[in-house]
Amino acid sequence: MVRYSENKIWRIVARVDDEIIVKSANSIERAVRSARNAVCKRLCDAAGIQYENGWWKGWISMPRRAFIENFLGEPLYVLIEEELDIDTHSVPYEVYTIQAVREVFKNVLMMCPDDIDSWGNYHWGEGDSDKVLLLGSDLPIPSAITFSGKSESEEVLAIGDAQESFDKCPHCKGVIPFGTIVLITENYRLIPANCCGEMMWIKEDDTKLFEEWE
Ligand SMILES: [Zn+2]
Repeated sequence: MVRYSENKIWRIVARVDDEIIVKSANSIERAVRSARNAVCKRLCDAAGIQYENGWWKGWISMPRRAFIENFLGEPLYVLIEEELDIDTHSVPYEVYTIQAVREVFKNVLMMCPDDIDSWGNYHWGEGDSDKVLLLGSDLPIPSAITFSGKSESEEVLAIGDAQESFDKCPHCKGVIPFGTIVLITENYRLIPANCCGEMMWIKEDDTKLFEEWE
């Protein structure tokens, strides 16, 4: 049960390099969000990347959120006038590289077939939990593909077997490897093709490339 008190606040402390970031708010969610934003801004500045509004939104940002989480200490419910004691927040000393920041904030549209497994999970790290199921998630559609010519996103409605839909890879004309999937949205198809390392986009009504989708 969430309780609010007049004279208490949620306080969270983060550390980036030697800079201590302190955020507090009436709700734990707000305090954490605010600390995450501050850490994100600080890291982006350090890496010379444009700080992106809404960087935390959707599954796409899960690697970013996981990365930033490493810089946050424990949120504590404290009396407003209570003096800051960094030790009680167990603030980590996270060591990072600029390269790692650039990597995690790179455009997710740069993801490659290796990042997507046969079950339709997108992997952003080595760990077992560093993945998200793309089925039911919003997939960003590159502007080069969309009907509107602008970037769009559509929900992945189904995951199909690429071998059932194609005799050979439409891109490299090679054999489609076993386990290659097709991510199906309302208007688009995405085939993470491991044969050629290509993220292949197809419009749903583009019947030149295939006969029929079941
Ligand atoms: Zn191919």
